[in-house]
Formats: sequence, C-alpha cells, structure tokens
Amino acid sequence: MSERKPILCLDFDGVVHSYTSGWKGAAEIPDPPVPGALEFIVRALDRFEVHIFSSRSNLPGARRAMQEWLLRHLCEIAPDYDQTPDWWRDRIARTAFADPWPDEAKHAAYRVVYAEVFWPSEKPPAFVTIDDRAIQFNGTWPSLNELANFKPWYKRENTATEAAAPGLTARDLARDQAFQEALERYAKDHGSAETVAWCALRAIERAAQRKGQAA
Ligand SMILES: [Mg+2]
Repeated sequence: MSERKPILCLDFDGVVHSYTSGWKGAAEIPDPPVPGALEFIVRALDRFEVHIFSSRSNLPGARRAMQEWLLRHLCEIAPDYDQTPDWWRDRIARTAFADPWPDEAKHAAYRVVYAEVFWPSEKPPAFVTIDDRAIQFNGTWPSLNELANFKPWYKRENTATEAAAPGLTARDLARDQAFQEALERYAKDHGSAETVAWCALRAIERAAQRKGQAA
C-alpha cells in the first residue's frame, strides 16, 4: 500500500469558487472557478490528499452542491479532445480506455470529484491550508487594527492598478468596446463578461505588482 499523501486543505469560497456574487445560501454556488483553480486541484492530487473544506461544509446540501459545481466545471473544460487543456487531457488519459472522448472526460471528472478529492464536514488535520481569510502566524502577533481591516485578496484596494490607471474598475473594462468583444468570446466558456473582466483586472494588477517588485 502506498504511503498516505499529506493533506492539502483548500477553502472553497474565495479560493476555489470565485465568489463574486457573495453569499447566496449554503447550496447556492453561482460563480465560476477562480482562474487556475481546477488545474491546481487536479495537479495537486498527485502530491497531496486534497480536502475541500469550507464553513459551508456542514450546512445542509452544501457538500453535494460543491461536488456538483466542481463536476460541472470539470465537464465543461473537455467538450472535445482538441479543446481540452493538456493538464486535463493527461489526467483523463490515465483512466481512458476506448470510449468516446466526452464519456472518458466525464468519467475522469467523476473520479476526481467523488473518489479523489475529499469533502470533509470537519476541519481536517492538514499539512497546509489555503484560505482567503487567514493570516499565517509567524510568531509575531498582528495588531488588532490590522486584523479589523483585513480584506481577502479580491476585496483589496488595487493599488497597482490605481497607479497605472486611476479609478479603473472591472465594470469600466467591461464597457470598453474592443475588450468587451474579446470578453464575450471568452465568457461563453468561462462565466459572465463581468466576472471575466474582474479576473482580467486582477491579472493586470498582479502583472503590475510583479513589475513593481522587479523595479
Ligand atoms: Mg473563503
């Protein structure tokens, strides 16, 4: 028997689920994945026992809703062989036999959701946890003001964008004609135009931050 992998505990809202609509109820999961979340989960399964645990997890219907949400999004990224990203194609190929691609893709998605990812109802003894509402304790106590003003990553003032383009918001980007057209093409597969604009804005910020750090 192979050795048990270390537990990676992933929070759901704000980490896996983009949570742009805010709380709508324990079994309501309206938003698309945070960009890169599905790829991260699937790749992480090779090295970690991935547990998705959220404050939703022990509310009625929530674990089933999270599972169905993940299943739906995993199925959507493999409409046919050519459009399936490499990281997911490789995973599907591990269990694929000779069925039509959509069936193989669905089979792999079911395996990930119901046989590989864990959905505990209590906080697992994790090797490491990823959460949007936590501070890594490093031996120094944070100030209470710092804590009282805590914001998750998607609510922080985007100082880099502010410096580059003052007042620019995801809504502004969504109003730009050329950007809007590109978004609509992309949003067909990835969620609403506003959500994609929001993701694009975050990407711009991160790029500006990296540039700022490098300078
Ligand atoms: Mg969260």
